[in-house]
Formats: sequence, structure tokens, C-alpha cells
Amino acid sequence: MHDVDSFRPVAREAIEWIADYLANSRRYPVTPRMRPGDLIDRLPAQGPETGEPLAQLLADFEAQILPAVGHWNHPRFFNYFSSTGSVPGVLAEMLAAALNSNGINWVATPAVSELEQVALAWLRQWSGLPEDYFGQIFDTASISTLHALAAAREMADPDSRRRGLTKRLRVYCSDQAHSSVDKAVIAVGIGLDNLIKIPTDAAFRLQPELLRQAIEADLAAGFTPCAVVATLGTTSTTSVDPIREIVDLAAPHNLWVHIDAAYAGAALLLPEFASLLQGAERAHSYVVNPHKWLFVPVDCSAFYTRFPEILRRAFTVTPEYLRTTADPRAVNLMDYGIPLGRRFRGLKLWFVLRYFGRQGLIAELRRQIELAQRLRRYVEADGRFELAAPAPFSTVCFRKRAPAAENRWIAAEINRSGDFFISQTLLREQFTLRVAVGNLATTEADIDALWERLTALAALASAHSGG
Ligand code: PLP
Repeated sequence: MHDVDSFRPVAREAIEWIADYLANSRRYPVTPRMRPGDLIDRLPAQGPETGEPLAQLLADFEAQILPAVGHWNHPRFFNYFSSTGSVPGVLAEMLAAALNSNGINWVATPAVSELEQVALAWLRQWSGLPEDYFGQIFDTASISTLHALAAAREMADPDSRRRGLTKRLRVYCSDQAHSSVDKAVIAVGIGLDNLIKIPTDAAFRLQPELLRQAIEADLAAGFTPCAVVATLGTTSTTSVDPIREIVDLAAPHNLWVHIDAAYAGAALLLPEFASLLQGAERAHSYVVNPHKWLFVPVDCSAFYTRFPEILRRAFTVTPEYLRTTADPRAVNLMDYGIPLGRRFRGLKLWFVLRYFGRQGLIAELRRQIELAQRLRRYVEADGRFELAAPAPFSTVCFRKRAPAAENRWIAAEINRSGDFFISQTLLREQFTLRVAVGNLATTEADIDALWERLTALAALASAHSGG
């Protein structure tokens, strides 16, 4: 039934398909033309009684599934944080699937635990992160931040592991922080009312003086300040919070400082951004997603902490069936977080870091930043448009100087075309267009074509938007 030999010809065909796809993804529409439910309606409601040949599965993948795919690997995908699943990452994913390793603990597959440590140490060095940062890989930044706040809770309220919260804890972040911080305070039982969003300045950075006031007001009211989440590269505008000032304010109150660098952490490979990390040596934890802007296929979120012992205290639970060697070099990553099972994600990170090398990654990141700056310059040079926020990395926020309805129409038309996929956000209640560059295949011609489309639509917007 499970016939490995029948795998060979179909797998060879699949490899050819993958290579062809990666070389030519721009021939597909960036986003699928379909309505919600179309794919569900197209597929049988019940699974097959008897097995089907692999060749049929591959054919149906192409005929049925592909038309419902949004192509994140398309060079004109500018939405969210655009990203690329690069060839070394794809190769590693195939091999990892074949091994089916589950890195529950060291003994279950030593390579999962040890390669994760090696690849994360390289990334830590290349990013200029302090040497005492201990790393592990989770699926997403949301889960990394959840672990940061669970550790913060453990530090501020050590009884909470047994009894649930015994103190009225407070967490702080800017009004631009990612919604994963909200979800983390929900999940660790601190509650949304105890997440204090600190207003940002004109460049969308957390204002330290307002953080200081919030902490003092909470102390006076009997709360226990517990953690601050500083963002290095916010989701909407990629603004960078002043980490050193935040750490200075947090230290006297023993607050856990978590740095969310999910996207812009990649830019720390570039020496020109190293100063953004000042203060990180006194922060408690840090997350960067190599699956956002370091060309590793989803999912790969690198979570580091200087206090792995606090994470262990928060999470270690060892039933007899998971007890293994006590050799201290055998790191059991299950002790440092919630998941027991662990995909072999270290392999794809290691492949990608080796394939590009540090210099290769630096050159590519600089190239992509320059593509975004090209768009920024177009916006700034055209009086019909305005830049909505500084654009330090590869993401640009801007709008037509016109009512929101016109900008909404422009965004909707661009995305309806299937030629490009851009995003939108609200900045100080103002509708904003947002373009993120992150694809290895994106060229100047793609940026120029996007700008041409934007300006053409801008000329038509007032007539069509009803605004
Ligand atoms: N933090 C920031 C700054 C982000 O921009 C995002 C997503 O874009 C996240 C966290 C959440 O990332 P994930 O999808 O890996 O949970």
C-alpha cells in the first residue's frame, strides 16, 4: 500500500514542477480569482474509500488547489510582510518531511535540538545580539511573544504557575504593537484591561516619558508592572521603539523587556542598523521571524531569551515517559515552552543561512531596501501623494492626498486586478496604502509597474470612488 517506488517518478515530476514554479511564479495572478467557499464546493464532501495514486494527487493539486492559492512567492506580492520561501528552504522542508523527526527531547532526535542551537547561534551572532541569548524555534512570533509574557509572569508572580495569578499584573506596549501582544495577555491570564497601550510620537515610536508615567500611576494604584513589549519594526509602519530608554525605565521596576523584531530583526544583519539594538543586552527576550524577511519558508520564528531558567521554571513538567539523560549538554527543548512535538525547523534555517551566507543576505536585504526606497522617492516626488510614515526598511506607507474613499478605491482596484497585492492600514485614523518588499525575484521593473498603476488609478479615483 505504502509503495515507496511509486514515489520516485511522481516526486521527480514534482521537483520539476517546483523548480518551474519558483522560476516562473509571476505568470500566475498574485491572488486567486475566487469567492469564499469555491474550493470547498469543488472538492468531494467525503474522502475516498480506497487509496488514490500519487500521480492523481499531483494532477489535482495543479488543477484544483493551485487556482485557489495566493502566491506569496510572487514578485508582485507586496501585502503583509512580503516574503520568499527560497530554494534551500524548500529543499530542507522536503528532507525534514522525509525524516519525520519529532524533536520532543534531545534523545528523540539529537539533530533537531542541536542544529536548532547551531543555526540560532549563527543568526544571533550575525544580528549582533548578546552572546547570552538562548534560542529556540517556534512556529510564529505570536507563540514566541506568548512565551515571553509567560516568562514575565513567572518572574513577577512565581506562585502563578500553581495558583494562577496572585497579583494584578500590568503589561505595556505601544499603540502600534502587534495584536499578538493582545492575544498573549489574554492567553497568560493577565487580561486585556491590564495591557496598557502607550501613545506613540509622530514617527510612531513608543514615548518613553508616557511609559514612565503609566508605570508610576500603576504602582500608585497597587498594580504590579510586569513586562514591556518594545517593537523593532512595527507592523503598520516598521517604526522602531527606543529600546535603550525602555530598558532604562524598566530596570528599576524589574520589568521583563521583550523585543518584537518579527520583521525588522532581519535588517540587523546590516551594520547600518546595529545601533537600533542598543539596550538589547539588558532586555529579557527577543523574537525575529526568519520566515518573514530572511527567505526561510513558513514557519520559523526564532525566540531568544537571556533567562532560559525562568522559562524552564514556568514550563517544565516531566512525566516518567519523557524522562531522559541528565547530561547537561542534552538540551530538551520541551522544557522551555508549551509544545512537546517539534518540527525539524532548524534544518531549513541552517540551509538558508549557508546557501546565502552572511554577505549574500546582506546584499539581498540592501537590494530590497533600495527597491522600497525607489517607491518612497516616487511618492515624495509626486505632489498628488504623501508619505504617511518614515520608511527605514523595505516597507512604505503613503496615500493620495484625497479623501479616504479614493484611497480605498485605489487599494481595492489594485488588488482586484490580480496583478499586484498591496496592503492597507489606518494611521491616526487615516486610511493608508502600504507596500512591503520581501521577494527575491522583485525587480525595479516591478516597482515601476506598481507606481505606474498607482498613479493611473489615482487619476481616476475621484470619479469612481464616490468620495
Ligand atoms: N510581530 C510583528 C511586529 C508582526 O508584524 C507580526 C506579523 O506580521 C507578528 C508579530 C506576528 O507574526 P506571526 O504571524 O509569526 O505570529
